[in-house]
Amino acid sequence: MKKMLFLALTGWLLICSLQSDAGEETTSASVTAAAVDRLLEGNKRFSGYESVHPDQSRLRRKELTKAQHPFAVVVTCSDSRVSPELVFDQGLGDIFVIRTAGNIMGDIELGSIEYAVEHLNVSLVMVVGHEGCGAIGAYVKREHVAGHLKTIVDSIAAESEIKALQIKGDLVIDHFVRANILHGVQEIRQSSPLIREKLANGSLKVMGAYERLGDGKVEPLNN
Ligand SMILES: [Zn+2]
Repeated sequence: MKKMLFLALTGWLLICSLQSDAGEETTSASVTAAAVDRLLEGNKRFSGYESVHPDQSRLRRKELTKAQHPFAVVVTCSDSRVSPELVFDQGLGDIFVIRTAGNIMGDIELGSIEYAVEHLNVSLVMVVGHEGCGAIGAYVKREHVAGHLKTIVDSIAAESEIKALQIKGDLVIDHFVRANILHGVQEIRQSSPLIREKLANGSLKVMGAYERLGDGKVEPLNN
């Protein structure tokens, strides 16, 4: 009798624990999906000239003096035409932004992303490359660059995703922009043990996206 009671209790505990795990997964997935939706909805407003410029009030500024709780990390180019707070119609404290020419990915950029994921508990990282990127263009056209600018172009040239492309010519910059986005996504996914763990349990999503300059639309990439 005692044995049966023990087995029943064990079974009940197992079911409870499975239900609890499933619940956590659903919650994580829905938080991540909501973050993607929030960015893409904001971009829809921006591209349709219907931006609402949220979270820029006196009250918002005041509440942000205590802490920040951004819902997403956006990694993008320094290009003056792709400012993420504008492109995604977000405000103060909403997105944690990392910008370099060509949205290249080095230790300092990865460290910044790890800070947001590990300490601010951000559940989405989006790497956004864009049409007509000058940094990628400088690499593709083999432009002569010197000084620290050469460091950027050399970094792009060293990416395995870029090296794998066999095409040449300045009409195909777009292919390299997309390869560079993919590189950023892969680097972040392998960045730290905690990021790998969060990806495995579904509490973090790392994705790429491509932005068109003309209509301002951001298109999520399947990678
Ligand atoms: Zn650019």
